[in-house]
Amino acid sequence: MSMHKARVIHVVSNDKPLSRETSRILKHKLENNGFYIVDDFDPKADLIICVGGDGSFLNTLHSYNFPEIPVIGVNTGHLGFFQELSPYQLDEFIFKYEKGDYIIQELQLLEAAVCTRTSCIEVMAVNEITIKGYLSRTIHLNISLNDSFLEKFSGDGILVATPSGSTAYNYSLGGSIIDPTLNLLQITPIAPINTTAYRSFTSSFIVPEDVVIKIHPEYSFENSVVIVADGTEHKYREIVEINLTMSKMRAKLLRLKNYDFWNKVKEKFL
Ligand code: NAD
Repeated sequence: MSMHKARVIHVVSNDKPLSRETSRILKHKLENNGFYIVDDFDPKADLIICVGGDGSFLNTLHSYNFPEIPVIGVNTGHLGFFQELSPYQLDEFIFKYEKGDYIIQELQLLEAAVCTRTSCIEVMAVNEITIKGYLSRTIHLNISLNDSFLEKFSGDGILVATPSGSTAYNYSLGGSIIDPTLNLLQITPIAPINTTAYRSFTSSFIVPEDVVIKIHPEYSFENSVVIVADGTEHKYREIVEINLTMSKMRAKLLRLKNYDFWNKVKEKFL
């Protein structure tokens, strides 16, 4: 049997009392098992353990700029789609981690190049990127797939989801749940207008992972768009093009061996 000898673990927690307490117990147990705990991000750490809900998991990846280090979550929040462990599974986890008894789930990340006439800013996401009108205005977006024009969308906005983000905001909008072993992107409309004045598709599109989704906003108000990446909002002015692609980067999520996506979906949604 091969023993896993990873030793340095970074434990990060949100501020909720249950998370702090769980994190304190977890650190104590890890130290008793010979692990070395770091409280600040260390690129040489073998594992990041994130105590909190899905929001804390997403924040951890964003604030450390999508590290290559595997991450596992202890769920002290409500749903816990990414958070693999419950606070009463800490001993089980340490036992299995030491034996190397786990799998790494690679999460595909979404990337947007948000461009003015002169420069581009990169925005990354785990779940989704939404493009909406400023101050809840109707937005008009010319959407192309590679260089092939698809539609002029009018409505509240559009959402582009990764497979692992398909169960989040995308699902609330009526988008499909995608098995995360499939490599594709889903474009889901948010309140599309479909009248004689404006014609927009009303269902999601599913496109292959190598497609570039090109968005050209058509401005009628303030020359601004709002871009929301995993729930964090950014407002940009004078954007002429947004190119969304599947990133080459991956996040590594550590899961127990019995992890099954569709069981998780049933358990959390039905
Ligand atoms: P939050 O607390 O408002 O999260 C909303 C819910 O989304 C939480 O219950 C969370 O557990 C769940 N969630 C997050 N990622 C998920 C996933 N991949 N699959 C299933 N459920 C998931 O905000 P947060 O915790 O900072 O999370 C940000 C996410 O919230 C965004 O990425 C977006 O997907 C989601 N969101 C959902 C809606 C909606 O459903 N109407 C609206 C805005 C944002």
